[in-house]
Amino acid sequence: AAKESGQHGYCLFEPSLGAALNQYVATREALQTALEQDGLELHYQPQVDLRSGQVLGVEALLRCRQQGDELMVPGAFIGAAEESGLIVPMGRWVLREACRQTAAWQAAGLKDLTMAVNLSAVQFRHPELMTDVFDALAGNGLDPGCLELELTESLLLQNAALVQQTVRSWKARGIRLAIDDFGTGYSSLAYLKHFKVDKLKIDRSFIIDILQDEQARAIVQAMIQMARSLDLRTIAEGVEAVSLAEQLRIMGCDEAQGFLYARPLPAQALFAWMQQRAEDARLPAAGHRRRD
Ligand code: C2E
Ligand code: MG
Ligand code: MG
Ligand code: MG
Repeated sequence: AAKESGQHGYCLFEPSLGAALNQYVATREALQTALEQDGLELHYQPQVDLRSGQVLGVEALLRCRQQGDELMVPGAFIGAAEESGLIVPMGRWVLREACRQTAAWQAAGLKDLTMAVNLSAVQFRHPELMTDVFDALAGNGLDPGCLELELTESLLLQNAALVQQTVRSWKARGIRLAIDDFGTGYSSLAYLKHFKVDKLKIDRSFIIDILQDEQARAIVQAMIQMARSLDLRTIAEGVEAVSLAEQLRIMGCDEAQGFLYARPLPAQALFAWMQQRAEDARLPAAGHRRRD
């Protein structure tokens, strides 16, 4: 339309680009408002040991409350947050809030829960990230071993000196490192040793059809074997079915996370879920007890 009406025979942008731009501006504004007006929230998803059934940790997943109380998930805002740079203050908030919540849960008796926090590559452009992490821990009196930072392969493969130095100083203090969406990025694996990574999070796309597809199973088996020989833990992401969890356990995968156990839950609901699980575990073994 711009083309037809314009006198100069060119258009500034396609209508669809215009719509995308409007969408971006609206999202950026919603994020800014949420940041200023207490509209960010963390939900927590448990990470379960496949052998013992014990909950070893939770992953903090960011949500953004919009006007009208609608909850936005990262798929709808992470892109705009990174593009606009808002991911930097948002990420700082996530670190503090996750650490505050971990301390609160410890005080309430949940002692050995690891808190996993996602970091974006954009946050690494700011040298303060290194100390933001230490401050979030120290400000809440937490042992660095409680915190696990989830990074992507591509981030660690950049040769940026700042990334290297930052990640090494975290490791030196005892913070744990997990590779998120493992297998979806590059496949030079030297960085696993170089950074003393603790855990591989096998992306959902790899595990989704291991029950039906022999080659998919072979790939996941190879990932698990490699992880074991490097002394890394493995966690499968997006586990929705008991049969899948069982297969992963047989294959030697250490942990699983997914809707089978719980969706990402607000803090209070996660705490209630943990208590219910502990209570169920104390019941005399009387076959399967179903809860709705
Ligand atoms: P991720 O870190 O790989 O997180 C796992 C995603 O899978 C989450 O989506 C989670 O809700 C979803 N999921 C968990 N279990 C299942 C399942 O059984 N089935 C299926 N289909 N999905 C499952 P979510 O919460 O929408 O987050 C999406 C992505 O956004 C995350 O992927 C992470 O990369 C990013 N993200 C989330 N929170 C933050 C944050 O605080 N900072 C940054 N930088 N990124 C974040
Ligand atoms: Mg993650
Ligand atoms: Mg992941
Ligand atoms: Mg993922």
